[in-house]
Amino acid sequence: MTDAAPDLDHSGGARSGGRLVLRGARHPGDVAVAHGRIVAVGTVDPEPGDEVVCCDGDVVTAGLVNTHHHLYQWMTRGRATGCGLFDWLVTLYPVWNRMSVEDVHAAALVGLAELAITGCTTASDHHYVVPGGDDTVFDAIVEAAAAVGIRLHLSRGSMDLGESRGGLPPDRLVEDRDAILASTESVVARHHDGDMVYVTVAPCSPFSVTTELMVESAELARRLGLRLHTHLCETIDEQEHCLERFGRRPVEMLDEWGWGGDDVWLAHGIHIDDHEMGVLGAAGTGVAHCPSSNARLAAGLCRVTDLRTAGCPVGLGVDGVASNEVGGLFPELRQALYTARIREGRADALMPADVVEIATQGGADCLGMADAGSLAVGMRADLAVWPGDDLGDVADVLAGLVLGPDRRVRHLYVGGRPVVTDGRLLGVDLPVARRALAERARVLWD
Ligand SMILES: [Zn+2]
Repeated sequence: MTDAAPDLDHSGGARSGGRLVLRGARHPGDVAVAHGRIVAVGTVDPEPGDEVVCCDGDVVTAGLVNTHHHLYQWMTRGRATGCGLFDWLVTLYPVWNRMSVEDVHAAALVGLAELAITGCTTASDHHYVVPGGDDTVFDAIVEAAAAVGIRLHLSRGSMDLGESRGGLPPDRLVEDRDAILASTESVVARHHDGDMVYVTVAPCSPFSVTTELMVESAELARRLGLRLHTHLCETIDEQEHCLERFGRRPVEMLDEWGWGGDDVWLAHGIHIDDHEMGVLGAAGTGVAHCPSSNARLAAGLCRVTDLRTAGCPVGLGVDGVASNEVGGLFPELRQALYTARIREGRADALMPADVVEIATQGGADCLGMADAGSLAVGMRADLAVWPGDDLGDVADVLAGLVLGPDRRVRHLYVGGRPVVTDGRLLGVDLPVARRALAERARVLWD
């Protein structure tokens, strides 16, 4: 479908100095890009110097935003397949403890590549396994994102509550609190640029961290102007842990930890009652909805439409590949739609256009990216071009996209720069990366 190979420099515009024009898409029509931003949408008149990419019959959306992932988990697929969250974690913690920085790099490369070819332009990675406190693992994840070419929200995850003190993870897998906070500042200094890499402060979950770490993480994030992320309200087991240890429910603890605010987004957000929904909505706290992982682990059904009505930004997440072995974000759109309809018993609870909005604008809102997530003039030119060859007879093309077969992008642009062209990932040789990762995974389990 491409009549001119995109010939772009790294400024996010055409090499000729003119615009990049995606021409003829069924949705939303033409899109013109210059200097990394969308400059026109709809019917775009030709200008001298335009680089034109023919998108006849294709569908263009804003790039998908993955709001929750654990890239390292690609190393541990196909295990603990009949376990709920706690048993699943206890099975996998010892294996994760054996992963090297090189293993994490190999997993991140494949994970981010899979996200790119399934339409993601921004990926969040919550990395909380740091054996021996070696935080060069974060350098490795940043390097993988740079090779693939997509934006990275790097959550410096952490655990400091081991088994001997009432936590779930083994003692050897947790870090010292002061070391975690110092490392977080160091990772920020090394990598946070507010464009291609954002660093987030991200203690792992209520059952793996101390109260002190939650409180001091919030203070650190506010001091540095960073966002906060954690797992919350994922399972009933987690809720019971909080009731037993604190005498409070997880959302009540958020307030106690100083985590109320619109600079926070939570992974899962399932077990939330009506009052808590109002509290989170008033604060503008976001939720990363991970429907496939929640189904695999029988965690529960997220109240997505209620959260949105209450005022919470809601985005989509793959979650780790050890609990969602697809690894791409695209199938989560359909899964989110089905989950909402089953939960509410209403066939119109969530419509295809709603889940496209959740996967793009909702994700950008969770991550605090005010100028990403929609096809509007002035927004970042983070764009997914979906093949529409098989959708010619489908009247509602977004319905065809979401309800139809899984698909990979024809083209992907991040800030106007090509990342995938004609279905080919430009930055990484994916078959080679997959083979290298599979070999590492085999060694890890030996
Ligand atoms: Zn998670």
